[in-house]
Amino acid sequence: MFNKMIAGILPYMPKKLVWIFSKRYIAGENIEDALRESRKLNAEQTMVTVDILGEYIKELSEATENKKQYIELIKRFTDEKIDGNFSVKPSMFGLLLDKESCYQNIREIVAAADECDSFIRVDMEDSTCTDAEVEIFRRLKAEFPTRVGLVVQSYMRRTLSDVRDLMDMHSEEAPLNFRLCKGIYVEPVEVAYKKYQEVRDHYLEDLEYMLQNGIYVGIATHDKYLVDKAFELLEKYNTPKDKYEFQMLYGVTPDLRSRIMSAGHRMRVYVPYGVEWFGYSTRRLKENPNMAWLIIKALFVR
Ligand code: FAD
Repeated sequence: MFNKMIAGILPYMPKKLVWIFSKRYIAGENIEDALRESRKLNAEQTMVTVDILGEYIKELSEATENKKQYIELIKRFTDEKIDGNFSVKPSMFGLLLDKESCYQNIREIVAAADECDSFIRVDMEDSTCTDAEVEIFRRLKAEFPTRVGLVVQSYMRRTLSDVRDLMDMHSEEAPLNFRLCKGIYVEPVEVAYKKYQEVRDHYLEDLEYMLQNGIYVGIATHDKYLVDKAFELLEKYNTPKDKYEFQMLYGVTPDLRSRIMSAGHRMRVYVPYGVEWFGYSTRRLKENPNMAWLIIKALFVR
C-alpha cells in the first residue's frame, strides 16, 4: 500500500528534488564523470560495467545517437585502460519499435567492443522484452562468442528454462556468461514469482545450475542472505575465482561490497551515467521506499 503510494507520487516530484537523492546511484551526466568514478573504483580493485542511461525510446533516430555514444564510450575507456565492460538496454535502441534495426545497432556496438577486446552485457528489461532480448543475445553470441553476455532475472518463471535452452551455445572456449539478478520491473503474477523468499529460492536454484554447468556468472545482488548462500555454493562446486564475479550497483551497500572483496572474490560495480537519469532513479527509489519517504518529507519540512 505504502509502496504503491510512493510509486504513484514519484513521477510528479520536482526533478531537482529527486536528484538530491538520486546522485548517490549515478556517476554523473557525462563521459568524464563515468571515467572519473570508474578510475576510483578501479583504484579500489573493483571492475566496472558502464551503462549510458536511457530506455524505451520513442523515435528510431534516438537509437543512432545512442549507438554513437556507446561506441565513443568503448573507445575512450579502452584508450584510458579502464578495467571494465559495458551494459546496454535494448529498448534504448528501439527494441519495441523495430527489432531488426535494434539488433543491427547493438551488433555495431558489439563489433566495436570486439575490436577493443572488450565485452557487452545485454541487460534484461520488462517481460514484454524478454523473448526479443534472448533472441538478440543468441544472434550476437553466434557471431561474437566471447564478447557478449545476458542478464537473467530470478523472479521470472521462465528463467531456468531459458538458461537450459541456451546451453546449446555453451562451450569450454566460449562459456555462456550471465548476470543473475532478482529483477526490478513490476510483473504480473502469471510471469513472475512475487514472494520475497520465492524469488531468493529461485535465484539460488538458477545459480546452482550455472555453477554445476560451468557457466560464467555475475552474481548481482545486495542481499546478504544470497551472498552467504552463494559463498556456500561456490565452495560446494569448488568454482575457480576467474569463473564468476559479484556485481553491485553504484552507490548501494558499499559495506557488503567490502566484505565480499575481503573474502577474496572479484567485484564489478554497475556505473550508470547520462542525462536520462530520472527513469533509472525513480525505479531505484521505488525499490527503496525509505529514501522516497525522505524526499516527500523534504517537500513539506523546510
Ligand atoms: P533486495 O532484497 O532488493 O535488496 C537487499 C538489500 O540491499 C536491501 O535490504 C537494501 O539494504 C539494499 N538495497 C537494495 N537496493 C537498494 C537501493 N536501491 N538503495 C539502497 N539500498 C538498496 N534488474 C533487472 O531487471 N535487469 C537488469 O538488467 C539488472 N541489472 C542489474 C545489474 C546489477 C549489477 C545489479 C546489482 C542489479 C541489477 N538489476 C537488474 C536489479 C536487480 O534485479 C534488483 O532489483 C536489485 O539488485 C535489488 O535486488 P537485491 O538482490 O539487491 O535484493
